[in-house]
Amino acid sequence: MKRLLESFCRYVKIETTSDEESTTYPSTSIQLELSKLLRDELKALGLDDVEMSEFGIVTATIPATNGREDGPVIAWLAHVDTSPEFTAHNVVPVIHKGYDGKDIILPNDTSRIIKVDECPDLAACKGKTVITTDGTTLLGADDKSGCAVIMETATRLLEDISIPHGRIRICFTCDEEIGHGVDKVDLEQLGADVAYTLDGEGQGSIETETFSADGAVITVTGVNTHPGYAKDKMVNAIRILADFIARMPGEGMSPETTNGRQGFMHPYVIEGGVHEAKVRVLLRDFETAKLSDQAKTLNDIASTLGAEHPRASIKVNIQKQYRNMGEGLAKEPRAAAIAQAAMRAIGIEPKMEIIRGGTDGSRLTELGLPTPNLATGMHNFHSPLEWACLEEMETGVKLLIELAKGWGKE
Ligand SMILES: [Zn+2]
Repeated sequence: MKRLLESFCRYVKIETTSDEESTTYPSTSIQLELSKLLRDELKALGLDDVEMSEFGIVTATIPATNGREDGPVIAWLAHVDTSPEFTAHNVVPVIHKGYDGKDIILPNDTSRIIKVDECPDLAACKGKTVITTDGTTLLGADDKSGCAVIMETATRLLEDISIPHGRIRICFTCDEEIGHGVDKVDLEQLGADVAYTLDGEGQGSIETETFSADGAVITVTGVNTHPGYAKDKMVNAIRILADFIARMPGEGMSPETTNGRQGFMHPYVIEGGVHEAKVRVLLRDFETAKLSDQAKTLNDIASTLGAEHPRASIKVNIQKQYRNMGEGLAKEPRAAAIAQAAMRAIGIEPKMEIIRGGTDGSRLTELGLPTPNLATGMHNFHSPLEWACLEEMETGVKLLIELAKGWGKE
């Protein structure tokens, strides 16, 4: 476990924040630092086919053990970037060995406290090794815990060739946090039959369903004039857009009033002026068909408002984002079943969970590579209160070894 902790700390200290505004791939060149390090470490370990693409995607192969070369090929994925929602500049991991079960006051910003009563999973880690930030950055356990778990598993499988398994592919991606994690993954080059993202919270969970997601941009174009002489001339895009948002369904249809399997429509960015104003809206539901109902709602508001403001233009532009992975996983039931069996083999009852969001696996599954998401010991991600548990990461390693064995029998 010492080696696992060391690699985790080595990875989190490398700043890899992605950038939604960027037009390059990866969105920030700093991500390549970690990609290169992982490539070099994989080479040093002696894996086969170690490659880093021009986009910073790192792939490698753990060769099959004797006689299992022809079985299904599985892949393990983790992302190197961290969320742009909070800074990751100079991450200083703080290691709480034999954690005492109390609230954790973060040393370099004592106003930030990880509270046990707000975080039941933390209480369960009493006596274990908990890793937090110093309070001034996020930790980046999302998803460097996944990177560390995969690297440690690869190391152990190479150390002990008596563990029977088929060919295993490893893939580290960039820009997951800004929704572009698999844009540059070459599925043919990856060559896997089934894959798992190591990008889930805590331990024991297997996530096999995500939202289906579209994104809408509503653009109102008005007419700007000098406000002192605007009578009968000005058409204020801000007022029309505000009216548009006010007419959107709220209660029972917003993230702040929904839970479980309920979908929502979520205006999350607004920008503009009198001449032009825009709002970006997330459309989310577990049933893909319901996204068209949400689109219809927006289009109906646009046409009603358009009739009230004939001199304004109101455009609704909807882009497909990702689809519920449950739809694709149904075609390869072994993807979840073997993961469940592996979890039971290490003595943990699997929690089958749905994600009110998307993962790289949603997109991969849609492209034909079934990819559930597995827990890897991270908590409170995208925040300075982020923390990870070493023993839960170790559970992730054991799970992957069992998973390799399970698929090796197929
Ligand atoms: Zn993640």
